[in-house]
Amino acid sequence: MTRLARPLALAVGLGLGIAAFAPGADAALRPMAPGERPAADSTEAELWYGMDRAEQELRGLPQVERDAALNAYLRDVLCRVAGPHCGDLRVYVVTAPEFNASMAPNGATLVFTGALLRLRSEDEIAVLLGHEFAHYRQRHSLQQWRASKRRSATMGTVGLATLGAGIGLVGGVAQLAGTAGLSGFSREHEREADTLGFEFAAAQGYVPGAGLALWERLAREEAATIGRRRHPVFASHPETAARVEAHRRMATAAAVVPPLDLVAQRRERYQTAIEPFLEGWLADELTRRRYAASIQMIGELHADAPPAWRGRTAHYLGEAYRLRRGEGDAAKAATLQAEAVAAPDAPPAAFREHGYALHAAGDAAGARDALARYLHLRPDAPDRAFVERDLEALAP
Ligand SMILES: [Zn+2]
Repeated sequence: MTRLARPLALAVGLGLGIAAFAPGADAALRPMAPGERPAADSTEAELWYGMDRAEQELRGLPQVERDAALNAYLRDVLCRVAGPHCGDLRVYVVTAPEFNASMAPNGATLVFTGALLRLRSEDEIAVLLGHEFAHYRQRHSLQQWRASKRRSATMGTVGLATLGAGIGLVGGVAQLAGTAGLSGFSREHEREADTLGFEFAAAQGYVPGAGLALWERLAREEAATIGRRRHPVFASHPETAARVEAHRRMATAAAVVPPLDLVAQRRERYQTAIEPFLEGWLADELTRRRYAASIQMIGELHADAPPAWRGRTAHYLGEAYRLRRGEGDAAKAATLQAEAVAAPDAPPAAFREHGYALHAAGDAAGARDALARYLHLRPDAPDRAFVERDLEALAP
């Protein structure tokens, strides 16, 4: 997958060069065998060494989510799709709101929390991890890297062994994406990863349409970002549109439909795994300040969410509207905060926003009640002094 955010891609492009070394060509073309390590003195061994160092650094970073249950769950899904390769792979959940996942050539697998927030079920995780595992198993990074070395005579200034030294999260994560200074995998490799990832997931009984659902959802978010809603698939990047069509073809061709109760079970397992993080990840999403995309993404999540989540999804969707400040956005935000405070899982801040919306609508008594409720629910509110001042001003 590897849709690096721009700063990550930039950091990679700036910092890295490639040490020249030419091992036998065949290793790059043969899929990895379970338990296989690169031949000593090969380019691949050097690549792994750099990745191992970047992984070492990543392990100590606060952005890595260490929650045991979430990690065990993702590892379990990865092991299903990767089968006998399971022991060669590690999963890291990186707290970052972008949609991104990757598997480095040494088996370090990164899943951004922004990806987990955009998925709906274990079936979709299986397709995503299957895709990354395909890049790993087919040694795409090594192939890509050799191809780029052939293209560029200027690479070769920095040894691969220096990868991962002192570059922090940005550089380390980008390197672990496995693309070492490249702009990403070729379309051919992406197509192969889509096909194999689909097959790995399908072989474990996952729903054939999961990848299609995921990529259509991402295409709608891309389309919202660039402001063309009429033909979401065609308004998105050509790569996304091609991927949607590939998944549509594969899903249509697959004859198997897994039992509905199993599908529902896997959806619930996924929801249980991410529920403790839902609010934090929604708050992270708004820090991107890409409100049109957030409105599309959280709006779909709100529509799909189980009832027990809807106070939180309504609140953060309302916040995305409020922060966008477009025409009619304040009214939509007010409606959503009213919906949020009626739900059992309403975050305290929903009462504050609801209060200010009521105030703007001329309902001073309602505003007082809601603001007082906010302060009651959040004794440690960082804005307590301001809210108390507003409450005083609203006193009859
Ligand atoms: Zn890919």
